[in-house]
Amino acid sequence: MAFWPSVVVATPAHSGVGASLTYRSELSLAPGTLVRVPLGAREVLGVVWECPDQPPEGLSEAQTKTVAGVLEGLPPLNARWRQLLRFAAQYYQRSLGEVSLAALPPQLRDLNTVQLARRLKKSQKQQADLAPQAPPDGTATDIGLDLSDEQREALQALEAAQAPVLLYGATGSGKTEVYLQATQHVLQAQADAQVLVMVPEINLTPQLEARFRERFEPLFGAGALVCLHSGMTPAQRLAGWLAAHTGQARIVLGTRMAVLASLPGLRLIVVDEEHDPSYKSQEGARYSARDLAVYRAKVETEALVAETGDAAARCRVVLGSATPSLESWHAADQGRYLRLAMPARIGGGALPRLRLVDMNHQPKGAVLAPPLVAAMAERIARGEQCMVLLNRRGYSPVLACHDCGWKSACPHCSAFRVFHKLDRTLRCHHCGFTERVPRACPECGNLDIAPIGKGTEQVEEQLASLLADVKRPDGGPARVARMDADSTRLKGSLEQQLATMHSGEVDVLVGTQMIAKGHDFRRITLVAGINADSGLFASDYRAPERLFALLMQAGGRAGRDAVFVSSQGSESELWVQTWTPQHPLFAALRRHDFPAFAAQQLGERESAGMPPFGHQALLRADAKTQQAAQAYLNAAAQAADGLPHRDEITLYPAVPLTIQRVANVERAQLLVEAVSRAALQRFLSAWQPVLLECRGLPQARGLVRYAVDVDPLAI
Ligand code: ADP
Ligand code: ZN
Ligand code: ZN
Repeated sequence: MAFWPSVVVATPAHSGVGASLTYRSELSLAPGTLVRVPLGAREVLGVVWECPDQPPEGLSEAQTKTVAGVLEGLPPLNARWRQLLRFAAQYYQRSLGEVSLAALPPQLRDLNTVQLARRLKKSQKQQADLAPQAPPDGTATDIGLDLSDEQREALQALEAAQAPVLLYGATGSGKTEVYLQATQHVLQAQADAQVLVMVPEINLTPQLEARFRERFEPLFGAGALVCLHSGMTPAQRLAGWLAAHTGQARIVLGTRMAVLASLPGLRLIVVDEEHDPSYKSQEGARYSARDLAVYRAKVETEALVAETGDAAARCRVVLGSATPSLESWHAADQGRYLRLAMPARIGGGALPRLRLVDMNHQPKGAVLAPPLVAAMAERIARGEQCMVLLNRRGYSPVLACHDCGWKSACPHCSAFRVFHKLDRTLRCHHCGFTERVPRACPECGNLDIAPIGKGTEQVEEQLASLLADVKRPDGGPARVARMDADSTRLKGSLEQQLATMHSGEVDVLVGTQMIAKGHDFRRITLVAGINADSGLFASDYRAPERLFALLMQAGGRAGRDAVFVSSQGSESELWVQTWTPQHPLFAALRRHDFPAFAAQQLGERESAGMPPFGHQALLRADAKTQQAAQAYLNAAAQAADGLPHRDEITLYPAVPLTIQRVANVERAQLLVEAVSRAALQRFLSAWQPVLLECRGLPQARGLVRYAVDVDPLAI
């Protein structure tokens, strides 16, 4: 007897290949089984979606190829996982094959069945070796810290919640301890339960991993926790994925990609720093891991209730932040999410006091205002640490000739190359094009070419000289260090740099937003944001939300240890250098009043019909010329006439992106807006075939690619 499995394989997003391909098999294959199938001249990995015993109508049986191999020993991907992937593909307008296969570890594609069997055996052996030394006999051991009242109430409410939980906890309020104890309860309640914990950036995983390991290794063994993020080697990722898929890993800690991992026992999802834009993917299927986490919890819960017959069974999801996204905040306002507040810092410490520096009244050209430098010097002399934040790496964003007006433009992008003084290069941060810094102006030969504007390298250099005479309490000179994408490129350098900060070796840390998030530095009492305005006047309507969150987060690194701060007789401060001190954002920031800020922003969004009150998508096009990119978009808009729900949709004219050319590719986009999410979804689905067809139009010649971005974060 023959079976006719439909198999999804990695198809390009717009290849026109349907959702799945039909193969022939002698065996009945359970949906979710991983198989190897012939595709053209190659053999590729695929996932069985269905396996009927009748060929689909119109199939030419003679031309149907046979499944080449089954990845035995791997349990099939369960129905909940498949439902999640189907939803993600549909919602974000990509092919099911692309999304499903991208969710599997890349190395799985290269292994044949024999190699995989070997890998599985190895992973089982490793797990056995990593089992806990002395398993605790009582399952209800409590090994966590004594919770504060706020933490205890939040934990209880969370564990009783029916809806997704928004844990709105001030920086330093002890959200992590709540995650840890919620995790512990879930894992101890059930031997096969699993917990997924997500952080927005790889650089936040080491700290969190350490805290989870310390807590759970004694209970469940070292093999119970695995990480999943893009900084791992392919072999590590496969091992982590296998451990999660087979249920050996009880805790998966990862970045956004982890939301698509196979977790058959999933009972709790934590999305830490849920407001962070890094949760939205910017390539391939542009999914929001936070939104998928909420959907996933719902699907898992429905399946659990159906399977167990227990109406109270739940897979819970917790979104945590001190500055929630306005989407989540609004959902809580509406009662769709349960908002739990933890306003107090552990130990009763105060949030930092805001010190606004009006740059209009500072010496011309000063990168750092003198009062700020003086305040830092005082703190260093008392043995406290400072952090200086600015959102530009390199020495200066532009190098220019004052004689002829030459600037360090990138020949391949509509952007300037950044001057990196340490290795004497001009580097394009968009396409990577790098050259040695010229000795003289390439246009006129003038020797006097000068940096314009400031980056982290320059601030580090200036601070080192401004603080040269300052002594630490131990008599040593003040030490300034820098942490950004450049300084942490080498493996292990991030951990090492964080360690010098934690140990107190370094007095001042200069860095990009990378240092503002999540870290639990104990001795920082002063944080300074020195180019805040650049965020305020960006054209993006989310700019104030971003800036507020960034400054609150950055301020949250200061004064985390109340005992330390008061023993110093000091007070923690957040300094902000600005040209517009009267901006209302700062008034809310001064009061640490996120609710007021959110209400004001949501009011503006509502009257403008912006998300979360309206819904958006972008159609983006890359082409050899700007004209072709825009022509394609406008043609696609025209061809949308008559499509379902077209009358509920606003299509705006095509416009170039802010940085319109990158790596010699011209970029344009077209905004799609709708009042109803459902109408937007149906319209986009109907539009897909039209988008594919429009590629062939004469005016679109030179089009390189197009993509739909649903719920875009920047427009
Ligand atoms: P958040 O993530 O909310 O910013 P953290 O979870 O990092 O805050 O907690 C801040 C600090 O407080 C950490 O050093 C943590 O170990 C400590 N902490 C948290 N909860 C407690 C508690 N119940 N008792 C004592 N210390 C706690
Ligand atoms: Zn010149
Ligand atoms: Zn470039």
